[in-house]
Amino acid sequence: MNERDSETLAGMLTELGYTPTTDKKTASVAIINTCSVRENADKRFFGTLGQLKKIKEDRPDFVVCICGCMMQQQHIIDTVKSKYPWVDIIFGTHNIHEFPRLLQNVIQERTKQVAILEDGGEIVEGLPVRREHPHKAFVNIIYGCNNFCTYCIVPYTRGRERSRKPQDIINEVKTLVADGVKEVTLLGQNVNSYLEEGTDFADLIGLLNGVDGLERIRFMTSHPKDLSDKLIEAYGKYPKLCRSIHLPVQSGSDRILAKMNRRYTADQYLALVDKLFSVALDICITTDVIVGFPGETEQDFQATLDLCHRVRFDSAFTFLYSTRKGTPAENYPDQIPEDVKHARFNRLVEVINRYSAEKNQAYVGRIVTVLVDGISKTDAAMVSGRTEGYKLVDFPGDSHLIGEIVKVEITQGKTFSLRGKQSQ
Ligand code: SAH
Ligand code: SF4
Repeated sequence: MNERDSETLAGMLTELGYTPTTDKKTASVAIINTCSVRENADKRFFGTLGQLKKIKEDRPDFVVCICGCMMQQQHIIDTVKSKYPWVDIIFGTHNIHEFPRLLQNVIQERTKQVAILEDGGEIVEGLPVRREHPHKAFVNIIYGCNNFCTYCIVPYTRGRERSRKPQDIINEVKTLVADGVKEVTLLGQNVNSYLEEGTDFADLIGLLNGVDGLERIRFMTSHPKDLSDKLIEAYGKYPKLCRSIHLPVQSGSDRILAKMNRRYTADQYLALVDKLFSVALDICITTDVIVGFPGETEQDFQATLDLCHRVRFDSAFTFLYSTRKGTPAENYPDQIPEDVKHARFNRLVEVINRYSAEKNQAYVGRIVTVLVDGISKTDAAMVSGRTEGYKLVDFPGDSHLIGEIVKVEITQGKTFSLRGKQSQ
């Protein structure tokens, strides 16, 4: 979500005549777009902001803007105002559309600008965007979250759920396709609760499947409690829907899932996995797991490991629980000591990686379709791209393949990626 917001900000700056630079020292404007999901992001923000101070002292006309989820938290705003008074523009997640005006005000009037709305109002359509990739794009379909998982800050920083109109989404996708986009990733904190003008999420996928020239549809993120049979069946029905799903489980213990307010049990999650495999046998399932939620016992943690053994995820994002100010879990008793969290985390990663490697090795000899993203980061004689299941594949090739969908025979399966060679 933040990446997509950054693309909008970059689009606005491009329209205003700015060009990107990697050199902070000569930049005219810097924007830090913050994330507050976990504590690490907070820390990096203050570190990065500190680095800009020196430049601002040397060149007072350097415009420093800060925005994103952290700006929706009063204690952060208070810290910025007292310790970083030289920041020019502060705006929240619901004020992105105001950025060009705020920037112009600073440049013309040299006054500080602050714009923070508590909650999102009407969705502002038609904002410019500067995409990272020419051939794939993020498309927001629903903003905000109503779920209030007890560890999570997102409902407080992104407001309540608001779905975009289906026609606005379809028009955006058609424009993207005309501009060379082959793959769209539909974005929302919980895409499964998309509902607008009688169109639900599965209907929306059906509509997008009919857009000529579009080749792949992905989405993230999907909450297990709202994953409907209708959506699961969409995998069997719509060929453009990539056989992959990110389905965050968070924990395998029913006791912890209840404390997290996730509103499903481990058995219900496993039943969803079975259904997904019954509709699309080759589907890749990835997840998020939090280790060390308050009150997590060794037995609870063992239930998480058991679930991972049962599902055999293709890969997983594993997180150490971090306390977020203002969330219910902040005040839960039995916070888990850091050393216990880390020890469990390492055990979990070992299990996750073992299955990732096993699953990837099973691809050897198979032919997969890959949308080529760019030159490989590990070997300049190779290109890399993603399979339908979102697996990273490196194979010999050059830049003329970028943006193409090609067939690749897999020759090696590693823990985090596949190797292959182009096939006919
Ligand atoms: N809306 C998505 C995820 C948003 S946050 C969903 O519900 O699946 C992405 C991931 O960050 C979450 O799935 C969770 O695993 C992790 N996360 C969120 N808050 C966290 C916290 N306080 N500590 C550790 N991990 C957290
Ligand atoms: Fe956070 Fe839960 Fe909403 Fe995901 S569903 S954004 S984890 S509150």
